[in-house]
Amino acid sequence: MEIKKKDIRALTKDQLRNFFVEQGDKPFRGNQVYEWLWRKSAHSFEAMTNISKETRSMLENAFVINHIQVDQMQKSSDGTIKNAVKLHDELIVESVLIPTETRTTACVSSQVGCSLDCKFCATARLKRMRNLNPDEIYDQVVAIDNQSRLYFDRPLSNIVFMGMGEPLMNYNNVLKAIDKITLPEGLGMSPKRITVSTSGVPKMIKKMADEEVKFNLAVSLHSAIDEVRTSIMPFNATFPLKDLREALEYWYAKTKNRITYEYVVWKGINDTQKDVDALVKFCQFAPSKVNLIEYNPIDDGEFQQASDAALQMYQDTLQKNRIIVTVRKSRGKDIDAACGQLANKS
Ligand code: SAH
Repeated sequence: MEIKKKDIRALTKDQLRNFFVEQGDKPFRGNQVYEWLWRKSAHSFEAMTNISKETRSMLENAFVINHIQVDQMQKSSDGTIKNAVKLHDELIVESVLIPTETRTTACVSSQVGCSLDCKFCATARLKRMRNLNPDEIYDQVVAIDNQSRLYFDRPLSNIVFMGMGEPLMNYNNVLKAIDKITLPEGLGMSPKRITVSTSGVPKMIKKMADEEVKFNLAVSLHSAIDEVRTSIMPFNATFPLKDLREALEYWYAKTKNRITYEYVVWKGINDTQKDVDALVKFCQFAPSKVNLIEYNPIDDGEFQQASDAALQMYQDTLQKNRIIVTVRKSRGKDIDAACGQLANKS
């Protein structure tokens, strides 16, 4: 019977060091291999040129290095690049490179599909197939960093977990990936340049607060009225606004980090004064910023972007209440790379 080889990147650095000790080698060998696997993103044992031939073939017999493959790359007229990324088991996720004058942002996926059922989001139609492993998240970032250097002559500057999936429902792997991204033996990026976006899983927000994570948090709110939110984000019935708010209060008390809300204003759904008043009230317990995101249509028109007047009302009311508000234009719409459009269409 063929023995299934283990994924070597599932091992921590200590486990790798111990493995070499068990083999009668030095723990330091573990550090060397670890560096090849992460900082240097080696795709084969053969590439590890400072490791002896015997050791490389021993590793070859015991382990595999699973790595992603950019299967298809599409470029938008605004410079945005969408990657269809093939995983070792042939499943596909998407990740996006978003360039601006001064930044390159990677928008990465955390799950294949999504278990939430947000009515306005294309990914929701895929259902959740599985969680991504830490290395699969890390590899998306490396791929986009390479593209940023190649096409824009600069390294990646920011990362947002706003691709496919709900990062807080794959919390452990997302955290392990962020560790690799931020540690010097990985990419050495500052956690301040990373934003995890969530639909709001109260228990996990509290856990993040307890663990004193250093990255930013964004909450996809879209409505501060329970009935409205439940109608567009059904999981709000399980995690109502009261629980979300309590978790965010806890987060703020522990981290003193401002909270960012992602918010789309739709015609006939959340475009009245009552809606914005509820938002103001919801935000008031901590310094907040509201990103009003442009709606990216995904269907036959059930959801429509609200009027400019409604958006103006949101901006005026929020500003009057000293809440920072920005209006975010969509990027990469022509290649279905914008928020909520990731659905393996290409
Ligand atoms: N599950 C996470 C991250 C993925 S969604 C979350 O909910 O935050 C990333 C962002 O895109 C969220 O703010 C989400 O609400 C928003 N979004 C989803 N579909 C969209 C669409 N069609 N148009 C604009 N934004 C959308």
